[in-house]
Amino acid sequence: MRRYCSCDCILITRPRPNKTMTANEPSAFAAPNSALLDKFISIVGPANAIRDPNEMQGYLEELRRLYVGKSALILRPGSTEEVSEILRLANESRTAIVPQGGNTGLVGGQIPFDAGNEVILSLSRMNRIRSIDPDGNTMTVDAGVILEQAQLAAEKVNRLFPLSLASEGSCQIGGNLSTNAGGTAMLAYGNARDMVLGLEAVLADGRIWDGLRALRKDNTGYDLKDLFIGAEGTLGIITGAVLKLYPNPAERATAFVGLNSVQDAGRFFALAREASGNELTGFEILPRFGLEIVLKHGHDARDPLEEPHNWYVLIELSGREADGRCAACLEQLLGQAFEQELVSDAAIAASLSQRKDFWRLRELMSEVQGLEGGSIKHDVSVPISAIPEFIERANNLVTRMIPGSRPVPFGHYGDGNIHYNLSQPVEMDTDAFLAQWDAVVTGVHEIVLDLNGSISAEHGIGRMKRETLRKVKAEVELEMMRKIKVAFDPNGILNPGKVL
Ligand code: FAD
Ligand code: ZN
Repeated sequence: MRRYCSCDCILITRPRPNKTMTANEPSAFAAPNSALLDKFISIVGPANAIRDPNEMQGYLEELRRLYVGKSALILRPGSTEEVSEILRLANESRTAIVPQGGNTGLVGGQIPFDAGNEVILSLSRMNRIRSIDPDGNTMTVDAGVILEQAQLAAEKVNRLFPLSLASEGSCQIGGNLSTNAGGTAMLAYGNARDMVLGLEAVLADGRIWDGLRALRKDNTGYDLKDLFIGAEGTLGIITGAVLKLYPNPAERATAFVGLNSVQDAGRFFALAREASGNELTGFEILPRFGLEIVLKHGHDARDPLEEPHNWYVLIELSGREADGRCAACLEQLLGQAFEQELVSDAAIAASLSQRKDFWRLRELMSEVQGLEGGSIKHDVSVPISAIPEFIERANNLVTRMIPGSRPVPFGHYGDGNIHYNLSQPVEMDTDAFLAQWDAVVTGVHEIVLDLNGSISAEHGIGRMKRETLRKVKAEVELEMMRKIKVAFDPNGILNPGKVL
């Protein structure tokens, strides 16, 4: 069966199980008996526990059905205290727990394995905005608050919560922090980690850590919150967070720019950084082939430029005042870039709807790839200065390995994060193309590592990249991670088989 994915990560036709089984596998845990299940259910009440297979389904598989698992029980606690009771019982009874937020993760971390002995702990009922302090520029939320709701709550007090992902209508703050999500605002505001001041988490033994501090400065020993952020639910359950708020931009200037080469995009980025400093809030790159398939498959999608160009950059500047400064800065920047022959053509958005149209071209990039047959996808990062070399070497490699394959490298240029996607040759059988998966991924990752890059820029490790992590991390680094895991979760009940 062929399935397509509409996001920046991976498209595949069949599940890819982990190869290595260790003590940190769910299969090492006994299935909870019915008396134990009843004890778990009594903590949240029967109305908030799911055992019916039909009702369970939405929690057992992710969007692409790339990972599909089984579970003994789904619990939907309504408070931190209930999460605490669940973990205390799980730790005593050695029951494996899989934390789940909005279930939009792209590496399988939120999905249980097949054994059916794991209990899913869904945070979705914990969705309160606990408090907002516009003067202090902070907002305290439950972990189950949907990202879009957090953005809207900030907007209501004329502030910005800048984290922005295409999945923002479903993903939750707890999931965003557990994956240290990136997205399109990373360039100006950093990743999820940079937007947090404090955390509340429940430890594996059920103790509650109240680290909900709204302090900008706090050098009192190890920064424990940073351990939970990006841990993908393997060290504790995040139940609340103090988020940073920022001034709401009153002006945005956006342009769709045509360029000859990735090298020119690199020089244009350096120029834009210098000219606009902190006002540069978006710098995304798209190849011509990517735009072509968007125009072919995207409803009403139009090329903003008259002539075709090898590469495109979507650039955005944001300013605090609606005084036209951003627009003027963008025009001046484009003028300079034309003079230096870095850009060949550019269209500036004249209205909000034009701005949306430009962004839609970028957002459709991955979805439309699914309509061009099989894809092999990578979420990688390299130092920004190495992007042109990475793309050139990766293109040479993959077109040599699979003649006629069509690279679609695109994404967050300003973060060094390229979604290096590869569409199958037009005439090739999809299964035969996808059979090259491991070889292609290994080859592309080798180039990434040679350039001192990372095999996972923003989606995490989960189940998908667990094997690879073991191969690419130094033993001393893996050893430190394992020791942290044992210190936080000595019985290994939290999300076993993920990350490590
Ligand atoms: P889930 O998928 O439910 O869980 C993700 C991981 O976190 C799992 O390991 C889970 O066990 C753990 N977890 C969840 N909640 C908690 C908690 N409260 N405590 C402890 N552990 C927890 N990601 C990006 O970084 N940038 C993007 O631009 C981006 N774009 C996307 C676009 C689309 C269309 C889709 C489908 C996904 C995209 N993603 C992107 C991936 C995904 O949306 C993010 O990883 C997101 O942060 C996951 O949040 P979630 O609530 O859905 O978490
Ligand atoms: Zn991305």
